Amino acid sequence: MDSDERAIAPEEAFSLLGNDTRIGIVRALWEADEPLSFSELHDRVGLRDSGQFNYHLNKLVGLFVRQKNGKYELPFAGHRVIGAILSGTYTHTGYPRRSNSIHGVSSVAGRWRPNTRRRWSRFAVPSCDERRSTFGFPPGAFEGRNVEDLPRTFERWLRNAFSVMADGICPNCSGRTVGSLVTDSEHLDDDQAARVEFVCERCGDYASGNVGTYLLQHPAVVAFHYDHGIDLGRDSAWELEWLGEDDARIVLDDPLLVEYTVELGGDELELTVDSGLNDAVEEM
Ligand SMILES: [Zn+2]
Repeated sequence: MDSDERAIAPEEAFSLLGNDTRIGIVRALWEADEPLSFSELHDRVGLRDSGQFNYHLNKLVGLFVRQKNGKYELPFAGHRVIGAILSGTYTHTGYPRRSNSIHGVSSVAGRWRPNTRRRWSRFAVPSCDERRSTFGFPPGAFEGRNVEDLPRTFERWLRNAFSVMADGICPNCSGRTVGSLVTDSEHLDDDQAARVEFVCERCGDYASGNVGTYLLQHPAVVAFHYDHGIDLGRDSAWELEWLGEDDARIVLDDPLLVEYTVELGGDELELTVDSGLNDAVEEM
């Protein structure tokens, strides 16, 4: 450990926040555009008893509040507390009532069903009720967005979370993730040959997707789409026909190797993925 690094127990860290004045201090520092002096911060929080205010502020200094050059500001942990409050993950028990209207057909030709009890959202294609995605989504994401914007927001959230896991980082705990190609997963559909799965070695958080979803971030796939007028950084991937067909074919059982064809406008791009998720473009 570095000399300036220290750890405190999670119960101690969370208990430090269990007070309205302390949450008020963190909020006031976040709302301020610049570091605040003691009196400026005191005025904004509005607690009359200066001794009490000082007591609560000192509890936060060192972890959730940073004191620098006689002023106070939010360090990383303080910003993460604000993020947790705004996301609603720990403070909302269900989705907003407004989200019921998301059951309608969306711009990506599907429909959303926020599950208010389990707080997972489900995306399905109405024509065949095919399940596309089920995943956790913070209730705070509903605030300030139109219903029409939500499917895209869901998709970007999902793709980014999947991409971070594919990069070896757990979006839940920042631990290390391990990815593999699997043929015996409970998540495998009947007609599906293989899927890609990522598991966090620390918290056990888990992501499973079809091989095509994994290949969406391959530079050759991104370039292939770009050449066909599709910007994968902007356009919805759920409208792509090849992705819906999920064309993963096993070419070798041991060691496992699958082949995948991405088809756009009559042109084909062939890729292979092995069990350790090493991918390659096939020579055509
Ligand atoms: Zn994790």
